[in-house]
Amino acid sequence: MAGLAFDIRPSASPTPEAERTAKLKDPGFGRVFTDHMSIVRYNQAKGWHDARVEARANFPLDPALAVLHYAQEIFEGLKAYKRADGGVNLFRPDANARRFHNSADRMAMAPLPEAVFIEAVEQLVRIDRAWIPGGEGSLYLRPFMIASEVFLGVKPSAEYIFAVIASPVGSYFKGGPAPVSIWVSENYTRAAIGGTGAVKCGGNYAASLRAQAEAIEHGCDQVVFLDALERKYVEELGGMNVFFVFEDGSLSTPPLGTILPGITRDSIIALARDAGTIVREEPYSIDQWRADAKSGKLREAFACGTAAVISPIGKVCSASGDVLINGGEAGPVAMGLRKQLVDIQYGRAPDPHNWIRKVF
Ligand SMILES: *Cc1c(COP(=O)(O)O)cnc(C)c1O
Repeated sequence: MAGLAFDIRPSASPTPEAERTAKLKDPGFGRVFTDHMSIVRYNQAKGWHDARVEARANFPLDPALAVLHYAQEIFEGLKAYKRADGGVNLFRPDANARRFHNSADRMAMAPLPEAVFIEAVEQLVRIDRAWIPGGEGSLYLRPFMIASEVFLGVKPSAEYIFAVIASPVGSYFKGGPAPVSIWVSENYTRAAIGGTGAVKCGGNYAASLRAQAEAIEHGCDQVVFLDALERKYVEELGGMNVFFVFEDGSLSTPPLGTILPGITRDSIIALARDAGTIVREEPYSIDQWRADAKSGKLREAFACGTAAVISPIGKVCSASGDVLINGGEAGPVAMGLRKQLVDIQYGRAPDPHNWIRKVF
């Protein structure tokens, strides 16, 4: 493991059991945190060093810390799932580790060995195992890296902090996935060719918030972005990829390039193809989407990502009017794929692609 052993230092004051149990009852998303964090430091002299699992605590932040000024920051998102036999599964952590490595490369950050990424995640899951909710809940894991050199010059930082924090989350949807309405962003784009659209960096999210606010102002749940060049082809939502289901049973999804290469997206493509479904990775225009929804050629549309797994899209809204998809209801293809994926994640179904990594 690149010669990097984690020093495990359990918290001296962990959350009392009664308080933890109360917090796990209805954790929501991203507001409750576990007792520990994994942390590894980098500088040019030592490389990656000082790997620890320790009590979750504030970082000391010098006001000149590079990340605060030039946004050299990347992150990942994955989950630990409790199986019925009490064991714990991670879903494709190797894919997150690889993507993190690619993100670091694009942002001129120090590449983190994939084995160190996985070890940091697994050690945190081990020490905070009691925080993994049962039922349809899970432990959301957030690995991230920040530029930590104290310097205002514009250049890649010479120092980095990699850390993993964990947050128990409830079932994303209570009482089954509710279809979302999405607003077509005509004023803003999220990614241009040669930019950072395919990278999981905080800056992409900062740039998407104004468009997301516009979606909310128009009574929609989420924003969908179009390509930056022609302002015509559907790219993705603020933090989820998108799929279309046609009357002939085939699926399509926008091709990789300027979109984030979602692990959920990749898994859905694999599961659909396993079942003999034709999946096309090809550009799909917003005008075609509207026309196909009206003609009935388009049966369903859904968004996908680690947090929500699959969200059916019930309505597409824009300045030129609203179009319902599948009568505004969740469709059978989206719901079927969702169940298939979730059953693999919780260890209730066979895992033909070796996606599961058992921590316990
Ligand atoms: C993380 C993310 C996704 C979904 O990726 P998963 O690996 O499936 O969680 C999609 N789009 C954007 C912009 C993202 O940041």
